Amino acid sequence: MTKILGIIGGGQLGMMLTEAAKKMPEYISDVIVLDPTPECPAVRVGAKQIVADFKDKNAIVELSLQSDIITYEIESGDSKVLESLHGEVSINPSPTTLRTIQDKYLQKQFLSQNNIPVAEFEAVESQEDLEKKISQFQYPVLLKARRDAYDGRGNFRIEDQSQIEIGYKRFLGRQTMIEKFVDFKMEVSVIAARNIHGEIATYPLVENIHKDNILEFTIVPARVSDKIASEADNIAKKTMQVLHGAGVFGIEMFVTKDDKVLVNEIAPRVHNSGHHTLQSTETSQFEQHLRAILGLPLGNTRLKHNTVMCNILGPRDFVGRYRPITLEQKDGVYLKMYHKDESKPQRKLGHFNIVDEKDTKNIELLIKRAQEIRSMIKFMPQN
Ligand code: AMP
Repeated sequence: MTKILGIIGGGQLGMMLTEAAKKMPEYISDVIVLDPTPECPAVRVGAKQIVADFKDKNAIVELSLQSDIITYEIESGDSKVLESLHGEVSINPSPTTLRTIQDKYLQKQFLSQNNIPVAEFEAVESQEDLEKKISQFQYPVLLKARRDAYDGRGNFRIEDQSQIEIGYKRFLGRQTMIEKFVDFKMEVSVIAARNIHGEIATYPLVENIHKDNILEFTIVPARVSDKIASEADNIAKKTMQVLHGAGVFGIEMFVTKDDKVLVNEIAPRVHNSGHHTLQSTETSQFEQHLRAILGLPLGNTRLKHNTVMCNILGPRDFVGRYRPITLEQKDGVYLKMYHKDESKPQRKLGHFNIVDEKDTKNIELLIKRAQEIRSMIKFMPQN
């Protein structure tokens, strides 16, 4: 019997999930997204929409009434409301997993209790508590808002004692934690899937280059030794075993200067660093997520060709409608725009993958080509 899929969030991730769902008509008959923006990206590719805030209780209940299975593309849904619905409708990843992940402190505590390596961390109760605990760490440390903090916006780096008060005031009224600053040599991630029967599959380790805390390039595979790649893969598999979540997860990690692998953060959803799978593997992360929550056998995650993914972000000096972005899609270049009519500074508007289809194995050249292509993308106002 086919199912109606409900997704909390209808941005680009919801859009690419919808596209994957449309290719599986034998399993999914319809997609409904809950999103506050009318005509959000998922709707532009055929999803129906409930226009409401992600945390709107009535809207979440409405979505559950209209759907057979529920999932999400953002982690800020109301986990308490979702928990109350669990049982009436199938929700994956489970709201309990979501609740643990939504709070960075609970997430780190969970990981460390399960012997998954993370940077040293402590919860912060007050300014005095912060001063006391910071003295047990060496500077610099990161003060992090525990909830609702994305793209580094919830982080404040404390370099010395004089910045403690400034940092504390930055997040006044919000629960915080501190974390040892990791002097990493690389940020990497594993896209991992676990289906509702417990089958686990991981994609190859990728390398992520951020600029101003926003992902700029993903290089596939990561330029690390086989030993590090295999260690990261083991950590990702173990994380999936203990989390008991079903679906695709993005597991972000650091490789330290002395070659240790530490988990930074888990995203309980398809992930920006997995967009390369649209071309580089047989099963995209979007199809994989649907297979996982539908209870189908997981698809093949083997890397077919080295690939570089580049995000297309709204320029800093421009707000407004823009002329369609075009790229010559040949020699392994694949463009994906997200149907967002208006550009805003740093807004994720699309991405392109550049795939080494001739298997030259020259990853440096691939990166250089990606940089060149990106520099050719120009935003022009739409009259
Ligand atoms: P987060 O929102 O916590 O994932 O952090 C956003 C970015 O901040 C990460 O991609 C890292 O570049 C950086 N970051 C987070 N935690 C740490 C840490 N403990 N040490 C060094 N850099 C960090």
